[in-house]
Amino acid sequence: MRFPLLGRVRPLARGLAAGAALALALALAGCTQNEMLGRDQLMLVSNDQMAQLAAGTWQRTLQQEGIDNSRRYEQRLTEVAGRVVTAAGLGDQQWEFAVIEDDSLNAFALPGNRIGVHSGMMEFVENDDQLAAIIGHEIAHIQAQHSGERYSQQLLGQIGMNAASIALAASETPAANEIAAVLGAGVNFGVLLPYSRRHELEADSLGVRYMAEAGYDPRAAIRVWQRMMQEQGRAQQPEFMSTHPSDQTRIANLEQTIRQYGL
Ligand SMILES: [Zn+2]
Repeated sequence: MRFPLLGRVRPLARGLAAGAALALALALAGCTQNEMLGRDQLMLVSNDQMAQLAAGTWQRTLQQEGIDNSRRYEQRLTEVAGRVVTAAGLGDQQWEFAVIEDDSLNAFALPGNRIGVHSGMMEFVENDDQLAAIIGHEIAHIQAQHSGERYSQQLLGQIGMNAASIALAASETPAANEIAAVLGAGVNFGVLLPYSRRHELEADSLGVRYMAEAGYDPRAAIRVWQRMMQEQGRAQQPEFMSTHPSDQTRIANLEQTIRQYGL
């Protein structure tokens, strides 16, 4: 008499072990201390590689969405962004800023020092201080190499998964595909999301320091996030906030940074 389950469990365990071992080896090799953040970061890709990866996305976004070149936006963005970049000590680098033609409340940062602010966000901010808070937050994402870290986590998850599914497929286990699919979903939904929230809080903390350093009012960072939270309750949900920390956590984190650094 055969126990079909045993035939499945062993290859599964072997596949998982192979995947986990490879993933662990890569994680150890790719773990670097980020002094600015005061924590370890998984980094399997270089800044240059990330900048190259992002170049196409940036060009496509500009082409598909369209750039809003109206002078009132352009001048304002250039002036405020220039001040925040200089205050962050990044004035010697090349930066690209663009206003994207889009009514939604959003802004984004891509590796390679590229920052897009939607026209909806340009309209939404009440003053330059609030715009500086948004720009500071986006510059902070780039400075903290959040994209590279996120990409590395996904890569690591994928590499571990591939190794596990190759081992499973080789075992001719009938359920291999199903198991691999479930494990894949676990990697996507279980492991990666908490990092996104952490990234947002880090970007808030660093960003408010940059904008305050540039002479903008740090309280404007709190004000603009509070106003965005009110917007969330309305029909138009800012995608900017989709994986963001809870309102209270975010405000408390900003308050603490302002106190801690005497901003
Ligand atoms: Zn963010």
